[in-house]
Amino acid sequence: MERVVEIEKIKFDNEYENSLRPKSWGDYIGQDKIKKNLQVFIEASKKRVESLDHVLFFGPPGLGKTTLAYLIASEMNTNIKITAAPMIEKSGDLAAILTNLQEGDILFIDEIHRLSSAIEEILYPAMEDFRLDIIIGSGPAAQTIKIDLPRFTLIGATTRAGMISSPLRDRFGMHFRLQFYSQGELSKIIQKASFKLNFACKEDAAQEMAKRCRGTPRIALRLLKRIRDFAQIHDEDFISKERAKYGLDELGVDEQGFDELDIKFLQILLGAKGRPIGLNTIAAALSEDEGTVEDVIEPYLIATGYIERTARGRIATPKSYELFKLSPLNTGLFKDTNES
Ligand code: ADP
Repeated sequence: MERVVEIEKIKFDNEYENSLRPKSWGDYIGQDKIKKNLQVFIEASKKRVESLDHVLFFGPPGLGKTTLAYLIASEMNTNIKITAAPMIEKSGDLAAILTNLQEGDILFIDEIHRLSSAIEEILYPAMEDFRLDIIIGSGPAAQTIKIDLPRFTLIGATTRAGMISSPLRDRFGMHFRLQFYSQGELSKIIQKASFKLNFACKEDAAQEMAKRCRGTPRIALRLLKRIRDFAQIHDEDFISKERAKYGLDELGVDEQGFDELDIKFLQILLGAKGRPIGLNTIAAALSEDEGTVEDVIEPYLIATGYIERTARGRIATPKSYELFKLSPLNTGLFKDTNES
């Protein structure tokens, strides 16, 4: 079954999402510190009439990294080219992208941690000196041809801060880590989107959805879309709190925003009674790949304090035991004050 709270990986052709993408800073809710800093750096580079320094965004999928890249392009009044690391397989692919850029353009590379080291090597002089070094031939006869590139801004996005090589990370002048959104922020995002969709959503209904979307705008927007369907088939022309609750229950999203997969994940850890469980064991038990477990499922469970990552594996926290009304006493997670 499709996972409602799942975050789509292929999103560039998602018309629904693109139509709701914020077009101005005012529309981009939350991440205030990042917005404030970016506005300063953009203003300063505009004053100097220079291209913006390279920017790296970290954070789980669906939190607004691509949207920020579009906003930067719009503020800088430049073109933006969007690509993803898995699409850049050969050095020629990257060379073609870079030589087609114009002065000041923004190049956005999603999932940048997936670039091969050979491609990274080409990117270094391009980022540092706006130069492309192409090696022709091999062995002693090999020649390096240097091509000047226009000054461009690279915006990289990654869900895995730990997997990006340090030489690549160091070549970005700005690093920003996106945070999960508060319920208040998500509620605003839902209401703004419902306004754009021309389908009213009551404030308490938006709050109900905001509670259950794993702190992630992409999931909030997806829930809104589905719940609008439920309202429409019941001939309602707005979303009420009752309809939102009904829809969320029908979709199998619980009070915490957890779905079957999250619950199964927690049950595996709880079943281990405090023993850490390795990522590969969890992934196998969930029939998911390790990347999905690490990028999509775990970050929210960690951010909300239900699980912890330790060097030996993942463990459930007392909050998880409370959720399932289990006693963690015999796991050593809670100290029994009566024990001597
Ligand atoms: P990411 O690149 O981090 O995976 P996106 O930038 O594609 O995420 O965001 C997913 C969707 O969520 C976007 O289409 C956008 O409509 C919405 N969104 C993300 N962040 C915000 C925000 N801060 N305010 C309003 N909408 C947002």
